[in-house]
Amino acid sequence: MSAKRPKVPSELRRRVLIEAGHRCAIPTCKTTPVEIAHIVPWSKVRKHEFKNLIALCPTCHARFDDPRGSIDRKAMRQYKANLNPLLSVSLRSREGQVDLLVAYQELRVTFAEWIPAEAQYAAAKSRRSSRVKEVADLRSLAIDKFSWALCAALDFQSAWKGSEASCLVGEILYHVGEWADEVHDASFPLSKEIARRDIAEEISEASAELHLLVCEELSM
Ligand SMILES: [Zn+2]
Repeated sequence: MSAKRPKVPSELRRRVLIEAGHRCAIPTCKTTPVEIAHIVPWSKVRKHEFKNLIALCPTCHARFDDPRGSIDRKAMRQYKANLNPLLSVSLRSREGQVDLLVAYQELRVTFAEWIPAEAQYAAAKSRRSSRVKEVADLRSLAIDKFSWALCAALDFQSAWKGSEASCLVGEILYHVGEWADEVHDASFPLSKEIARRDIAEEISEASAELHLLVCEELSM
């Protein structure tokens, strides 16, 4: 019935183990021995890919696989991302990689300013007690930050042309942008429902995935 599951190739297995220092990837655990776990289950992806694999001890692995368990996929993605601080290893020796890294860092910095600026504007616009000037100032600040983030996203996409990371950035930009449009277009006062959306949280999974894609590309 189920297609035969091939073994994780030994080279790939080694990379995953080295990434976690041959210990359980959950930092408060770090136990041995370790197994190779799929973040998105193998039954769904039907392939072994570095970005989807993580080293776990049998206990953490079982807790993760248990659908009633306390470790969810989002948390596991975060653990995986934590294993990959931006690698600068031998970057200098590779032509063009510095540009990729710079584009990514610019993207992170500008989004980290844009999203809170929009959230602040949304919050002020949703309070009946806000003064017109305050709302207007926050609005122009948000627009300003948006234009920086947009430039960074476009630069990123041109540096990372045609890659999975580039598509993902498009999706993230679209997701945040759609909400920002809603905030800007709505009349005063903005509904609490729109104002309270936690956009940073909504894009956190995609951001962690982007981070992994970037780390993987730069460390290849
Ligand atoms: Zn563990």
